[in-house]
Amino acid sequence: MSRGRYLFVSDLHLDGQAPRAVAQFIEFLQGAAQGAQALYILGDLFETWIGDDDDEPARTAICNALLAYTGLTPCYVQRGNRDFLLGAGFERRSGCHLLPDPVRVQLGARTLLLSHGDVLCTADVAYQRFREFTRHASAQRRFLSLPLATRRALARAARAGSRAHTQGTPERIMDVSPQAVACLLRVGAADLLVHGHTHRPALHRLEVDGRPATRIVLGDWYEEGSYLALDAEGHYETLRLAPSRTSTLSMEASNSRV
Ligand code: MN
Repeated sequence: MSRGRYLFVSDLHLDGQAPRAVAQFIEFLQGAAQGAQALYILGDLFETWIGDDDDEPARTAICNALLAYTGLTPCYVQRGNRDFLLGAGFERRSGCHLLPDPVRVQLGARTLLLSHGDVLCTADVAYQRFREFTRHASAQRRFLSLPLATRRALARAARAGSRAHTQGTPERIMDVSPQAVACLLRVGAADLLVHGHTHRPALHRLEVDGRPATRIVLGDWYEEGSYLALDAEGHYETLRLAPSRTSTLSMEASNSRV
C-alpha cells in the first residue's frame, strides 16, 4: 500500500488495441494506488486522444475507473505528445485535474518540477515545430470539429508519420537536451525534475550552477507498469507492477516509441 505517498506514472499509452496495459492500469487504480495522497500522470496516459467526445470503449472504461478513483484521491494529469487534446470534457469524465507543462509543485518536504518531457527535447527542431502547430487553439478547433471517424483516421496517419520520424532520428536528438533541463531547474528553483516521454527510465544526478539536482525519468507501460512513489519526507523509489515481483526498477534499454 502507498498510504501518504505521492505517486507518479507516465507513458501508459493506453488503447483498446493493448488490453493488458488497460487492465493493469485499472488494477493499479484499484490496488497499489489506493490510499495515496495524490496520483500524478505525466502525459501519454492514452496512445491517442482525438477529443473529449471519444467514445472508444477502452477509453470510456479508463475514464470510469479514474472517476471512481478520484472520488477518494486527487489525480492530476499533464498532456503528452499523444494526448495533448485532453480538455475540460476529459476532466468531467474522469474527475482528474489537468496541469500545465512544466509545472512546479510542493509535495511534503520537496519542491518538484513535473513535465511530460517532450518540451525538453529541443534538439529535435522538426518535432518542436510540429508541437507548436498542434498547440494552436485554431488548429485544435478545426480538428475537433471533424467527425470522430475522420479524426481517428487522421490520428492513425499521424502515428505512422511519428514512427517514421522517430526511426529516422538519432537517439541523442530525441532525448532531452541537458541545456533545457538545466534551464528548467534554474528557472523553477527546484532540485528535482520528474518526466517521462523518452521511455528511458533512469535516475540522473547532475549539477546546476554548482548545486546538486536530480532528474528522474519514468518508464513506459508497454511491457509492464511501473510508478514512482515519493513520501512526505522526500524519499522516493520506483516500483514495478508485475504481479509476481514488485522490485526496485533497474536501468533499462531505451525504447524509441515515444
Ligand atoms: Mn510522449
